[in-house]
Amino acid sequence: MSLPALPFAPGLCYFPAMSPKIKILPSELVDQIAAGEVVERPASVVKELVENSLDAGSSRVTCRVEEGGRKLVNVIDNGLGMDRDDLVLACTRHATSKIIKSSDLERIVTLGFRGEALSSIAAVSRMTITTRRKEDKAGTRLTIAGGSRAELVDVGAPVGTDVKVEDLFFNTPARRKFLRTTPTEMTHIQTWISRLGLARSNVHLILQHAKRTLLDAQATDDPAQRTAAILGRQVFEHLYPVDYTESGIRISGLLSDPEHTRSNPRNIYLFVNGRFVRDRLLQHALLSAYLTVIPHGRYPLVVLDLHIDHGSVDVNVHPQKTEVRFSDTNRVHRALSSAVADVLARAPWMKSTRTYLIKSQSTTDSTSKSQSADRVRDALARYHTSIGKQTSSFGLRAKPAQKATEAARPAGEDLPLSELKLLGTLWNTYIFLAAPDGLLVVDQHAAAERITFERLRQQFDNRKVASQRMLVPVQLNLDGAALAGLERYASEIADMGFEVEPFGPTTVNITAVPALLAHVQPTALLLDVLDEFTETGRDTSGHSARLEVIGRMACHASVRAGKALPEAEIRELLRQLEQVDFAGTCPHGRPVLVRFEKSEVAHWFHRT
Ligand code: ADP
Ligand code: MG
Repeated sequence: MSLPALPFAPGLCYFPAMSPKIKILPSELVDQIAAGEVVERPASVVKELVENSLDAGSSRVTCRVEEGGRKLVNVIDNGLGMDRDDLVLACTRHATSKIIKSSDLERIVTLGFRGEALSSIAAVSRMTITTRRKEDKAGTRLTIAGGSRAELVDVGAPVGTDVKVEDLFFNTPARRKFLRTTPTEMTHIQTWISRLGLARSNVHLILQHAKRTLLDAQATDDPAQRTAAILGRQVFEHLYPVDYTESGIRISGLLSDPEHTRSNPRNIYLFVNGRFVRDRLLQHALLSAYLTVIPHGRYPLVVLDLHIDHGSVDVNVHPQKTEVRFSDTNRVHRALSSAVADVLARAPWMKSTRTYLIKSQSTTDSTSKSQSADRVRDALARYHTSIGKQTSSFGLRAKPAQKATEAARPAGEDLPLSELKLLGTLWNTYIFLAAPDGLLVVDQHAAAERITFERLRQQFDNRKVASQRMLVPVQLNLDGAALAGLERYASEIADMGFEVEPFGPTTVNITAVPALLAHVQPTALLLDVLDEFTETGRDTSGHSARLEVIGRMACHASVRAGKALPEAEIRELLRQLEQVDFAGTCPHGRPVLVRFEKSEVAHWFHRT
């Protein structure tokens, strides 16, 4: 065993003077250590308990949470229940009813199998389990605090199991310290509930926080209905079914059309045999199939389950059971990317002309191929940040490029942009202007975005973004996480020029939007703003964070590259561009304007 190098100083000893004695750790301490791997935060408790309920064949599972799960996580099911002996055993480490021999590990059909969740949770909380099997007259209740059994009694109880987990980490202050705010912990919980709910449509799943129902998803045999219940109707309308089989792998589920992407990859749900997984290979296969049809920095909505024979996938990789290993990685990658590519190629939206649609990867040249590879890498990095350590996603955001500022210098001291000679436009994207001592190229899309950004920023700096009431309110159906976000960031969102009113349990009415953006699709706009505010763990109070939200909003306003602009509109665009603060950084780090000096042009032709 190698120990990490210690900074030894003379006379300083890091070990006791006597040689240390090796001891077997007491079982409670072993459980606490194991708990460190299994129970990261309240959401892990929710996940493990709901998984147990699902494994117990429940048709209805209710999860009640208080204070983001810190005070209480209570999961109630109507499943098989346990008898008295099993109940006691269940909370012992390495006790499971799901596997009995080594070869069972090769055919795991349940969500649990390691037999360590209950003992781990019991070690770091006050846990009460009440359970009854159908065939038993009375139920049993077991109370454990910090891993030691406090009470075991017979009680009257409905069939099924009720697990209460109170005061999580009360005896492990180091862990407790890492708990975040209630809304953050709730977001993690909702994420897991969504994953489990999407994986098991046939189970009625309810989530309540402090008596408020955040999700009530009825059992259904239609996965699309379940997706709508969990991710919101809005989302559902843009999802298309996938059912594809290749080399013995069946891939089923739903994916979004490329027009309806999101700014982060949190809505990518990948399952293997009904188990939510984080897997690089699968993410890569998925994103590479989408690569050519969605703009940079956008992510699809995907709910896909890979049904693969249990012998070809190892799920016993990590205590949290969200990682898998495939025996034939090529087969899996091929199957998934073909499944996605197949749907994308046949789908109706592909027939319309698309501005950012480029040819399939195999027909592009080598430069764009390596750019594609970079894009997949970039997308993957964001994906991992988002589904793994969500807190660090802030650090990965695009930084404003230095170059953009340099390039975006005014045309000249004397001549304003709009008065320069317009040479023409190219590819409906770039505006060419002749300056006395140079050539200017303006990206019309970036320019429009920039103008909107600067104006929104000005309004925001002067108090709040001006809003405009809508003639007819637009309804928006939201999932639990989004509703919670909307509530939490109500005043911030109002500052951005929105007015949103509750309308039914999972629906809101958008009654006003930022005036500068009155012409854009309001639901996508609001969802993006909401996403920006709710990105887990981000500090949204700072001015720069607000500017990012504004940057995101500006994106919606911009003239799409590829739209032909009449000359009058080009002039107007240039005039507006002159008026905004041109020296500031570009909201997305892309240059608005590039200038070629006369001398540089001369250089192309080897003139001196
Ligand atoms: P695992 O799920 O890996 O078997 P757990 O520690 O999560 O390990 O649970 C231990 C055992 O307790 C399970 O194998 C199961 O037999 C029993 N159990 C746990 N939760 C429930 C439940 N909600 N209903 C019925 N049995 C349960
Ligand atoms: Mg379990």
